[in-house]
Amino acid sequence: MVGMPAADEYRRLSFWHETAPGTLEPGQPLPGDLDADVAIAGAGYTGLWTAYYLSRADPGLKIAVCERDIAGFGASGRNGGWCSALFPASLGKLERMAGRDAAIAMYRAMQATVDEVGRVTAAEGIDCHWAKGGTVQLARSATQLERAREEVAEARSFGFGEEDLRLLSAAEARDLAGASGVLGGTFTPHCAAIHPSRLARGLAEVVRRRGVSLFERTPVLRLSPGRLVTGTGMVRARYVIRATEGYTPAFPGLHRALAPVYSLMIATAPLPEEAWAEIGLAGRPTFSDLRHLIIYGQRTADGRLAFGGRGAPYHFGSAVRPSFDRVPAVFNALRRTLAELFPVLGDVKVTHGWGGPLGVPRDWCPSVGLDRSTGLGWAGGYVGDGVATTNLAGRTLAALITEADLITGTDSEITRLPWVGHRSPRWEPEPLRWLGANAGLQAMSWADREEAWSGRPSRAAQLASRFLGS
Ligand SMILES: Cc1cc2nc3c(=O)[nH]c(=O)nc-3n(C[C@H](O)[C@H](O)[C@H](O)COP(=O)(O)OP(=O)(O)OC[C@H]3O[C@@H](n4cnc5c(N)ncnc54)[C@H](O)[C@@H]3O)c2cc1C
Repeated sequence: MVGMPAADEYRRLSFWHETAPGTLEPGQPLPGDLDADVAIAGAGYTGLWTAYYLSRADPGLKIAVCERDIAGFGASGRNGGWCSALFPASLGKLERMAGRDAAIAMYRAMQATVDEVGRVTAAEGIDCHWAKGGTVQLARSATQLERAREEVAEARSFGFGEEDLRLLSAAEARDLAGASGVLGGTFTPHCAAIHPSRLARGLAEVVRRRGVSLFERTPVLRLSPGRLVTGTGMVRARYVIRATEGYTPAFPGLHRALAPVYSLMIATAPLPEEAWAEIGLAGRPTFSDLRHLIIYGQRTADGRLAFGGRGAPYHFGSAVRPSFDRVPAVFNALRRTLAELFPVLGDVKVTHGWGGPLGVPRDWCPSVGLDRSTGLGWAGGYVGDGVATTNLAGRTLAALITEADLITGTDSEITRLPWVGHRSPRWEPEPLRWLGANAGLQAMSWADREEAWSGRPSRAAQLASRFLGS
């Protein structure tokens, strides 16, 4: 790709980048030193939603966002497009952290956030192919069915009803997603399928229109109280926000804050109507099954299947490199899994394969916060559930900043949610981090294989959750 125009290089990042409307030509970099009220590192959903809600709370604020590549370069432009109420920390875990009411409030806030994203994208004219068809999670073995029952029982014990999560019979599940070997499943309405890059690029355009200064091709070198330092100048600001998710470990002093774990995806060619007649997914519900090593898919607006999964290795020293985005063995495994789920796909053409890093905190609990004394703020650690969560993070950071400045119109209920101000422990130093994270990933895939032949819950899964802290 040497010598290729930047915009063409960015198009090749993923199916979503390739099909995003408008130019991917980078905007101007930071031209020199600048004074602002708020400086943000990273123009993924976290940085962009934060800028968006801040500019709404106070249109007079001077907000500068510095992005190393282009808006939506990272996970926000490449993900599975599940805008869902999923939160990586379970209700039980949140209850242990902060109490039952706080756990319930967190999950309710996530449900409301899905609708908030739908509302704002419609109001701002961002056509992100929004389809709120819910999520169907298939159970394709006795142990998966047992897990489906346990998930629904946990939801009930916290007061979430049929309208939030319900068990599906085999016939109901197959009606939604005509996969093989389906014994049952669960359904939640709290998810929309979206085109991720359209959301990221659309948001960037909206914040620019609102007067936010978005500097692209501007790598941030250091974040410190009152200062965001880049190669071409410094932004001096009362508030400095870190919104760099899986890329965070590259900052001095933060190499153990989050582990970048890769998720990879493939997209098929558009499928013929006869295939859709068998596969279903009418109304575009997102889908997965209840295996341990997560898989996720959506029917795209242009009639393809976009399908992904974890399983790529964690790289020593929390390294993040473009070459890690593409692992032919993982693409092949995804293709096989997809064909096994939907045999009608047979030898369907896979046209795209890509991937990217997500940020995993040691305790698998995302967090957002603002240190009022230093003005430093952060949000992240969403594991693989950031599409909606970043919106809640952006609203929360905006509320924390406006509360700190006593600007009127704050949304203080969200600033009391249990993830606000939460500090995850740091990851182990290397080589323990590399050994632990990869052993955990291996154990999850063993667990799936073992359960498939033994028909019983696997002990390897318990081992995996110990290593990965889930
Ligand atoms: C393949 C894949 C599939 C996924 N599927 C889903 C899904 O279906 N549903 C879901 O909810 N979540 C999913 N996720 C997770 C979700 O995409 C992320 O949680 C979310 O996009 C995080 O947004 P962010 O803005 O915090 O981070 P990012 O989008 O990663 O943005 C960080 C930005 O910071 C920039 N940056 C990094 N370092 C610097 C620096 N030094 N200076 C300046 N800028 C810098 C990067 O270029 C990037 O643009 C998936 C992730 C991946 C990778």
